[in-house]
Amino acid sequence: MKALRYLLISLAALLLAACGSAEVSTPAPQAKPKEAITFKNTVVSLTFDDGDADNYQTRSILKENNLRATFYVVSGFTGTSGYMSADELRGLHADGNEIGGHTLSHLNLTTIRGGELKREVCQDRLNLLAYEFDVVSFAYPYGHYDEEARQAVIECGYNNARVVTGGPALLPPADAYTFQAMPYIVQDTRFPKMTRYVTEAESGGGGWVVFVFHHVCDGCNQYAVSLDTFSKFAQWLGEQQKNGIVVKTVGEVIGGQVQPGVAP
Ligand SMILES: [Zn+2]
Repeated sequence: MKALRYLLISLAALLLAACGSAEVSTPAPQAKPKEAITFKNTVVSLTFDDGDADNYQTRSILKENNLRATFYVVSGFTGTSGYMSADELRGLHADGNEIGGHTLSHLNLTTIRGGELKREVCQDRLNLLAYEFDVVSFAYPYGHYDEEARQAVIECGYNNARVVTGGPALLPPADAYTFQAMPYIVQDTRFPKMTRYVTEAESGGGGWVVFVFHHVCDGCNQYAVSLDTFSKFAQWLGEQQKNGIVVKTVGEVIGGQVQPGVAP
């Protein structure tokens, strides 16, 4: 009995000590746990522009978190210094990621016309089809487009084209050839902002939240997300799939058959 009382007193002392130290070391013990959100009307697409070599690091992260992304490739740069090789693109594609077109040499399509414009869009798509990718999605370099550029994208056999900013887009978007994305993910875009793009879309009635990434590195470029931030976001997004969030490639969201290649 005496031993039991001693034990109880010791336990109480230990508890007090633990609570006391917790108060000292944790400034906000009442911090609210993140509410779980149920997603009913939001679809997310992860897109990467330009085919930068550092993008390949995301392959394993995407796979681990049961995510698939759309990589818009500048086929004229494929395999050159700083860009992914054809084999790396094949690896991404083998995991279920989408490879889309982003022109032959990343020109602003509103500054070129006629045959040059068609070559930039159609030849790029032919190059990617030659790798046996299902090439249905396109992104305008710099997000710049006009009616002639939009027509070229249609005539070259694409099913959709992405611009930048203005998102979340409607589902289905008002125009599949100018659907809108969220603002670029840049060096100072933090993890909470990325999650807010998704949660705010849902609380606003839903829609299509299209993320635009460029480089994946620690500060190598203004348009870069760090590998750490991307991993954290991918893990969060992967987990939200249990709460109803739908993550799809752009081609899956828009749908449609793969059209034959068109010579420029
Ligand atoms: Zn680009």
